[in-house]
Amino acid sequence: MNPVNYTFAIVGGGLSGTLIAIHLLRQAGPDTRIVLVERRPPIGRGVAYGTDCPAHLLNVPAGRMSIYEEDPEHFLRWAREHGPDLGLPGPIAAADFLPRWLFGQYVTEALMRAVTAAPPGISLESLAGEVIDMAETPLGARLVLAGGQEFGARAVVLALGHLPGEYPIQRPLAFYRGPRYVHVPWLPGLTANIAREDEVLVVGAGLTSVDIIVQLDQLGHRGTIHALSRHGLLPQQHYYGPEDYPAFLADEPLPSTVRSLLHRLRSEVRRAGAEGINWRAVVDAIRPQSQALWLGFSPHRPPPQSTGWPMPAGYGSMAAGSRPSMTRPLPPKRCFASGAPERSNGCAWPR
Ligand SMILES: Cc1cc2nc3c(=O)[nH]c(=O)nc-3n(C[C@H](O)[C@H](O)[C@H](O)COP(=O)(O)OP(=O)(O)OC[C@H]3O[C@@H](n4cnc5c(N)ncnc54)[C@H](O)[C@@H]3O)c2cc1C
Repeated sequence: MNPVNYTFAIVGGGLSGTLIAIHLLRQAGPDTRIVLVERRPPIGRGVAYGTDCPAHLLNVPAGRMSIYEEDPEHFLRWAREHGPDLGLPGPIAAADFLPRWLFGQYVTEALMRAVTAAPPGISLESLAGEVIDMAETPLGARLVLAGGQEFGARAVVLALGHLPGEYPIQRPLAFYRGPRYVHVPWLPGLTANIAREDEVLVVGAGLTSVDIIVQLDQLGHRGTIHALSRHGLLPQQHYYGPEDYPAFLADEPLPSTVRSLLHRLRSEVRRAGAEGINWRAVVDAIRPQSQALWLGFSPHRPPPQSTGWPMPAGYGSMAAGSRPSMTRPLPPKRCFASGAPERSNGCAWPR
């Protein structure tokens, strides 16, 4: 039987795994040994914040990106303090959409601070490696790394992030293994096989496509980029209004289904609209309850067939800085978002 080397094993050192480690370091009892295993260090970055492309921006303003619920302006203060040394043009406002690499740095530093501040008897080890197997044991679990090493832990947290999406055509096409197809757009080397004038097809026209387009543009790519999606719509730019809508779900029983949440949201949007308040402020006001909402939903309940949600275009919003930095250097009609012809907005980028 494997000995229990650790009290907690956290598999995945992206944002979720790192935040769990920080909270355990602050709150766990004495004699706690934590191991954080990440297959693609550095720790604290993960898919979203591991990018070094300066045009990849947070899609939430700086004033709302704190990792500490009790200190909502923590990230903003940190960015103001460290931004100038890290080459960020100041001054930084709460409404600014800052680069994602900066947030990654913030998370990594927060972990280092938590390690230093941990009470005696609580320790964290970080391990570079991929967990490829796991089995329950009478003492907890046994984990196996790709190199063959094994260790035991009393409890395991899987913070693996999203699994890769499906292939566009679900047959094992040889094309998928060739140099002209990239399945996971977050891995390094995305642009390695794309020449300056190559025509590029991006399957999907949401926030990931925006990331890819601005990245290609920054690298000097000048060929035509086609973004293909079912609806043919690009994400809308973020709205950051002066209004701060109250956290209306805070003092009432939380909806337990997606459908009931949607109804509640719609009625609140109508109420806000009557007062001239933008619907996005209402959606933002749900943020403090989002974790409790997720935990309250049953994993077995199917999502509603159609939300009918009146979002004018594409899911998600693009950071306010993305479009200008993307459009400035792009010659007109270089990027096209296409969908079914009857539904396409015929959008050529930039509009
Ligand atoms: C491009 C992008 C931009 C985003 N921007 C924002 C934003 O601006 N603001 C915001 O609030 N949210 C944003 N999000 C949402 C974001 O995904 C989450 O906030 C968060 O980063 C998810 O972190 P995670 O740790 O769950 O997953 P990930 O970041 O994917 O981390 C999972 C980690 O687990 C590791 N791993 C997986 N399997 C193994 C294994 N078997 N062994 C060892 N390690 C393993 C992976 O290498 C990875 O580092 C963004 C998401 C994406 C994809």
